[in-house]
Amino acid sequence: MADVHPPRTDGTPTAELGVIGGSGLYALLDDVVEVRVETPYGPPSDALFVGEVAGRRVAFLPRHGRGHRLPPHRINYRANLWALHALGVRQVLGPCAVGGLRAEYGPGTLLVPDQFVDRTSGRVQTYYDGRVLPDGSVPEVVHVSMADPYCPPGRAAALAAARDLAWEPVDGGTLVVIEGPRFSTRAESRWFTANGWSVVGMTGHPEAVLARELGLCYTSLALVTDLDAGVESGEGVTHAEVLEVFARNVDRLRTVLFKTLESLPATRDCPCSHALDDLETGLPGV
Ligand SMILES: [Zn+2]
Repeated sequence: MADVHPPRTDGTPTAELGVIGGSGLYALLDDVVEVRVETPYGPPSDALFVGEVAGRRVAFLPRHGRGHRLPPHRINYRANLWALHALGVRQVLGPCAVGGLRAEYGPGTLLVPDQFVDRTSGRVQTYYDGRVLPDGSVPEVVHVSMADPYCPPGRAAALAAARDLAWEPVDGGTLVVIEGPRFSTRAESRWFTANGWSVVGMTGHPEAVLARELGLCYTSLALVTDLDAGVESGEGVTHAEVLEVFARNVDRLRTVLFKTLESLPATRDCPCSHALDDLETGLPGV
């Protein structure tokens, strides 16, 4: 399936690729245009920042809003993915900070997961909930496949980009997504580890699900900032520790992201691009 994004007639800058992550990721780009996008689900976390990376049009969305004002459980995930889709974005990278569930996944590890486990509660995780949208559109009942939640070419591009920079990534693993904003207890953390899961975070779900429901590609890049409570022997995870490790790694994470963006396929033929084939969604523009 070829992706064709005709320029929008209202002058809104379009983008083909999207990144949901912190402001440190686009701060160095020249000529970034700030775009406010309305959605049927309310406002996204912030404006979208549209710029160019290696000749590709990329929309950056600060997941937690500028100044990190939104905790993970209050992010409007539906509005975020919708806003990216509305600008023309079809492939999304979702970098996130996680805790390692195995001693060998210490701070600074980059893991590109191939599975997730949803341990959140109370998050709206679908566009297909039968509710009529403000413009009168009626979403159909749609069940998308989530057996393999992440985009295979997107994962391959991220892994290759990290290896190019001599940052040997962990290829595959399971990201447990917890509700937060608190960290895990030791018992929860040990239970995750005993199940064979790899890392734990708070934002990977429902981003991947909503992306799939819009037929978007989604690739998660999980940066380990700490060992989770069940693995380490000290006082457990602290917020300060997470921020410190993230700050130390943000430059190389940005470099990996930009390299990944550069090498994402120009046209898509991956399973995600066919997720909505032969389905009537009832959603405008989807
Ligand atoms: Zn894909």
